[in-house]
Amino acid sequence: MQFYSLNKKSPNVNFKDATINGQAPDKGLYFPERIPQLKKEWIANIANISNEDIAYEVIKPYVGDTIKADDLYQIVKETVNFPIPLVQVNENMSSLELYHGPTLAFKDVGARFMSRCLGYFVKGSDKKVTVLVATSGDTGGAVANGFYDVEGVEVVILYPSGKVSSVQEKQLTTLGKNIHALEVQGNFDDCQQMVKAAFLDEDLNQHLFLTSANSINVARWLPQQFYYFFAYKQWREKDQPPVICVPSGNFGNICAGLLANASGLPVERFIAATNANDVVPQYFATQHYAPKQAVATISNAMDVGNPSNFVRIMELFQQQYSNLIAKVSSAGVTDVVTKETLLSVFKKYQYLCDPHGAVAFRVLEDYLEIHPGQKGIFLETAHPVKFYDIVEPIIEQSVAIPDAVQQQLKLEKKSTVIKAENEVLKAYLLGKN
Ligand SMILES: *Cc1c(COP(=O)(O)O)cnc(C)c1O
Repeated sequence: MQFYSLNKKSPNVNFKDATINGQAPDKGLYFPERIPQLKKEWIANIANISNEDIAYEVIKPYVGDTIKADDLYQIVKETVNFPIPLVQVNENMSSLELYHGPTLAFKDVGARFMSRCLGYFVKGSDKKVTVLVATSGDTGGAVANGFYDVEGVEVVILYPSGKVSSVQEKQLTTLGKNIHALEVQGNFDDCQQMVKAAFLDEDLNQHLFLTSANSINVARWLPQQFYYFFAYKQWREKDQPPVICVPSGNFGNICAGLLANASGLPVERFIAATNANDVVPQYFATQHYAPKQAVATISNAMDVGNPSNFVRIMELFQQQYSNLIAKVSSAGVTDVVTKETLLSVFKKYQYLCDPHGAVAFRVLEDYLEIHPGQKGIFLETAHPVKFYDIVEPIIEQSVAIPDAVQQQLKLEKKSTVIKAENEVLKAYLLGKN
């Protein structure tokens, strides 16, 4: 399998080079040259297939011969070695809980897969790779955890100071070793912009071998397809496929779901749910795509003003608005509605959402209300305990903190505070090596 750049000005590459490059030299995102088709019988039999076999089957065509079969199987096995349960919340709605991995958020799957692939590709080479990543919260923790102690890989994480939850911050600032946290005096868009500028900086790239671990990297993006197969595996009414609602920020997760669907996975419809950062819902309403400055919300992992994977979604639909709206809907909710929903779901169904899950719950509920007879799944992308500072005052109860998180909260934060300036990041990176 080859991947082409969406800017169409760079050569096609295989999975290995796409993973190492992150972004194509022309700054485009990589996209698979064709979409593998899964056999109908395989999908019909999915309830009897193990998660690692499903994951292997789904990812194998993309990886091609760049990783030996046995090694790839081992990598996917380690990637999905925690439960991903589908939990019924009410008659028509189920929650796909993606938060049972080591950092309690869905990004664990992508980060674990990518770190293992990159570790595999750089093994035995004398060139050290620096993974540079901007995070609005969860990416940092998942990447830090996934790459911790991987030989030959240094990780530099930029996060917006004061804008990530305390659990998130500890997850990315307490590991040490090859993991370095930069606390940026700005917002997530500043962090993302600084990372982009570093990748464009020729001087910097002459000195360092930089790569990204954001969801633009194919090795993080593609394995997110697994969730949707695991959801369908647990879906009882196989002949009535689910509506799937995805809380979205950079739109990598939902884009992976759309790819899974294009490969043959039955899904009735996708809904992209956002918070007040509603560039995509606005696009659906107006056909006009207008990126904005991100605003801070209580579902902070979705505070993105210019979602990087939107171009991939459009590519999946041949850049046609009419194709897009035939399969996807989109809506955004405010923090007030998110809080209201979190509380009412807890009271009515004894189910505790985190703020991101609550956004998705509400948008799905609204959709099902005007589409009677359909049933759906919302993705619960983070454990509520990650946002206990937000969740506890809403439900007026404490949230039990798992032991592992308890331990981490006690560790000392180690970060380097920097200004939101490209030159400052560059100096740091050059000084480091
Ligand atoms: C990253 C993240 C999202 C958004 O996912 P995208 O792939 O960026 O759309 C949603 N919820 C949580 C908890 C996240 O960490």
